[in-house]
Amino acid sequence: MRYHSTRGGDADVRLADALRRGLADDGGLYVPDRFPAADAADFAGLTGLPAIAERLLTPFFAGDVLAGELGAITGEAFDFPVPLKPLAAPDDLSVLELFHGPTAAFKDFGARFLAAALSRLHPGAERPLTILVATSGDTGGAVAGAFHGRPGTQVIVLFPKGRVSPRQEAQLTCWDGNVRALSVEGSFDDCQRLVKAAFTDPALNARFELSSANSINLGRLLPQASYYAQASLSVYRRTGQPANFVIPSGNLGNALACIWARRVGLPIGRLLLAHNRNRTVPDYFERGEWSPRASVATIASAMDVGNPSNMERLRDLVPDLAELRSFVAADWVDDAVIAARIVSDYRTYGEVWCPHTAVGAEAYQRLPERERAAGPWVLVGTAHPAKFPETVEPLLDLTVPVPPALAALLELPRRSTVIAPTEAALARALL
Ligand SMILES: *Cc1c(COP(=O)(O)O)cnc(C)c1O
Repeated sequence: MRYHSTRGGDADVRLADALRRGLADDGGLYVPDRFPAADAADFAGLTGLPAIAERLLTPFFAGDVLAGELGAITGEAFDFPVPLKPLAAPDDLSVLELFHGPTAAFKDFGARFLAAALSRLHPGAERPLTILVATSGDTGGAVAGAFHGRPGTQVIVLFPKGRVSPRQEAQLTCWDGNVRALSVEGSFDDCQRLVKAAFTDPALNARFELSSANSINLGRLLPQASYYAQASLSVYRRTGQPANFVIPSGNLGNALACIWARRVGLPIGRLLLAHNRNRTVPDYFERGEWSPRASVATIASAMDVGNPSNMERLRDLVPDLAELRSFVAADWVDDAVIAARIVSDYRTYGEVWCPHTAVGAEAYQRLPERERAAGPWVLVGTAHPAKFPETVEPLLDLTVPVPPALAALLELPRRSTVIAPTEAALARALL
């Protein structure tokens, strides 16, 4: 399998190169040259996520140096449960809980898979593989945890000082050894700018092999297709019908992974993309015009994206809006409605949603009755509510129990280095 850039300017590359580079040289995003075909029968007898992922991804790894390692990578990366929990009659609705990994959000799947793959490309390299990651919250913790303790690698996390939630900050600053946290006196945009500048700094490049692990890396996207394969097979084996998914969305990585799984031939029906007040995608579905804008802050902050980068991959795959609308819809929800949904679903189902999952729960309830009744639906739960106690606990007047893996991280001592938002300060911290 070869991969090419959505902008067509970069020569076809192998998977390992796409993983190392992240972004194509022409600024586009890597996509597979073709999609292999596999249907439910091809997965007969396979159950756990590592085995299903290996079957799904084998053609995507064909001919690559990592091909022989795929089984080891899926086994190592996906070593935590992925429950699909039935919610309530009369509708056939379940929740796919993607938040049982070490940092309690679905970013663990992609980050752990990418770390397992990249570390296999680097045994004994002279310059340590150095992952620079700018984060506004969830991504940095997942990437740091995934690379922590891996020989030949180091992770530098840049976060905006004082602008991440207390528990997010704990997950960014609790590491030692090969992970360092830099608390940047500036905004998330400053952090991103510093990371971009580092890639063109000759002194840093002489010393380290720099790489990024942001969400547009293929090595984060491909593994996410695996849980859609597993969940849709489970629904299909139970009902004989394709599964429909409600996906809380921001940068569209999670949604695109589902569309890729559907394209391969997994039993997936409709998708409902649920956004917060950052409504660029719903507006596109409604008006047919793509008009990215600045992001606005909401209580579902991991979805605060005004210019979702994976739209470039989606439009590459399905350029025709009418065709896209035939199986994908999009809706958006404001903060007050998210809060109300957290309260009402706790009463109905006894479930505590994180603010992101609640966006999906609300979008589902707004579907016309006949669509909800037309087949099995799966609500994608993207984070554990214990990551957002500031929002959730006052609404429900309760304390959300912290899952053990997250509790263990929160106990660790915090360490970070404060730096000015300048390229010189970053270089000083690294060299
Ligand atoms: C990143 C994130 C999202 C948005 O996912 P995209 O792939 O960017 O669309 C939703 N919920 C949570 C909790 C996240 O961390």
